[in-house]
Amino acid sequence: MPFREFQEATRIHDFYYKNGELYCEKVPVRKIVKKVGTPVYVYSHKTFTEHLAKLQRAFRSVKPLICYSVKANSNLAVLRALVKKGAGLDIVSGGELFRARKAKCQGKKIVYAGVGKTSDEIRDAIRARILLFNVESLPELEQINAIAKKMRKKVNVSLRLNPNVDPHTHDYITTGKAETKFGIDFEKAKEIFKVAKDFSHAQVCGIHVHIGSQIETGDPFLEAFRKILEFIDELEAGGVKIKFLNLGGGLGAIYSDENPQTAEEFAAKILLLFKKRKFRIIFEPGRFIAANSGVLVTRVIYVKQTDVKNFAIVDAGMNDFIRPAFYGAYHALWPVAKNEKASSWVYDVVGPICESGDFFAKDRELQEVHAGDLLSLMTTGAYGFTMASNYNSRPRSCEVMVKGGTFKIVRKRETHQDLVRGE
Ligand code: PLP
Repeated sequence: MPFREFQEATRIHDFYYKNGELYCEKVPVRKIVKKVGTPVYVYSHKTFTEHLAKLQRAFRSVKPLICYSVKANSNLAVLRALVKKGAGLDIVSGGELFRARKAKCQGKKIVYAGVGKTSDEIRDAIRARILLFNVESLPELEQINAIAKKMRKKVNVSLRLNPNVDPHTHDYITTGKAETKFGIDFEKAKEIFKVAKDFSHAQVCGIHVHIGSQIETGDPFLEAFRKILEFIDELEAGGVKIKFLNLGGGLGAIYSDENPQTAEEFAAKILLLFKKRKFRIIFEPGRFIAANSGVLVTRVIYVKQTDVKNFAIVDAGMNDFIRPAFYGAYHALWPVAKNEKASSWVYDVVGPICESGDFFAKDRELQEVHAGDLLSLMTTGAYGFTMASNYNSRPRSCEVMVKGGTFKIVRKRETHQDLVRGE
C-alpha cells in the first residue's frame, strides 16, 4: 500500500500534541478538565465515525450490516453518532436494547446475542422487531419460539456456532473455543437444523460466529470462517437456506506498538471467502471502533517514593477503568502537558482503591510527574466506562464528547447522592 494511503488507513485517533499540549480534535484537553474536573473520559466523535467508515469502505462490495457492539461503549452520544452514520447495533441485554431504542436505532438493524436472555428480555426484543436473535443453546431457541408463538409474532434466529478455534488472545476474551460457554457445537447445531421446522415462530435462517476479542491477525478468523462455510455447504446440500451470516466482532485495536491488520487488509482476506455467496453479511465490531476513540484523563494526587518504587497516585481507579487490573492490559500514558526538557522517571501509576491490583502501569518510564499534573490513559474508549463500577463508593466519572472545536458533557459525573439512590 502506498505510504500515504497506509497512514490514512492506520491513522488511529484524533488525540495529538500542539505546542506541547494534548488536544482532542480541536479542543485542548486542559480546557475540558477545567470545566468538568477529573477523572473524565474524553471521546472523539471523529475517531468513532471514521473507524466505522473504515469498515464500511473496506467491505463496501458486500454491503454488510455493521452492528456496532454496544457493550464496548454504550454512551447514548456514541450510539447516536454511529447510528446516524448507518450502523446497526449488537446488543446483549434488555438494558442495551433500551439504549439502542433511545439512540433511535431501527429494530431491523438490531441483533441480539448472549447466553442468558431472560423471558422479559426476549419479549421486549420481539416487541422491538429486532432483525435477529443470535441463539446460543437449544433451550433458548425453544423459549424464544414459545414466547413468539404466544405473542403471535414470527422472529428470525441465527445459531451462534462455536467453531473451536483459538483466537490467540487473552483467556477472558476468548469465546470460540469448545470449553467456553458460548455458542453451539457443529454436531448439535446440525441436530437443531434437522428439527428447525418444528419451531413454528422462530425461523432458523442464519449463522453467527464470534470467536473472541482483540484478535490481531487474520488467521483465526480465516480458520473459523472456513469451518463455518463448510458447515453451511453441508446444510445447504441438505436443503437448508441460510440468509444471514453474522461474522461477529473481534478485530484488534492498536494499544501500543501492535501492528494489527487494517480494515482493508482484513477485508482483502475475508472477502475472498465470500465472493460467490449470497448471504446478508453482518459484522459486530466494538473495540475496533471505540478503543482509540477515547481517553481517560486523571490527575496525580501524590507522588510517593519508597525504597523500591516511585508511585504516581492518581484520582482514577480500577473502578473507573478495570482493564489493567482485570486482563493485565497495557495502556499508554501521555502527559496532558508535554515538556521535552523534563527528565524521565520510572513509575507505578496507581489508583486510590484498596487493592494491589489497582494500577494503570507498572515500571513505566514517564516524563517526571508532580502532584496536580494531568495524565491521559490512552485507548480507553472501549470496555472503559461500560465496565466501571462504584467500588469503594466512588462516583463514576464524567464522559465528554468532542466534536471539532466544541465539547459536550454526555454523562454527568455521579454524585454521592447517586451512590445511595435506591438503598
Ligand atoms: N459480538 C459478540 C457476540 C461479543 O461477545 C463481542 C464482545 O464480547 C463483540 C461482538 C464485540 O467484540 P469486539 O469488541 O472485540 O469487536
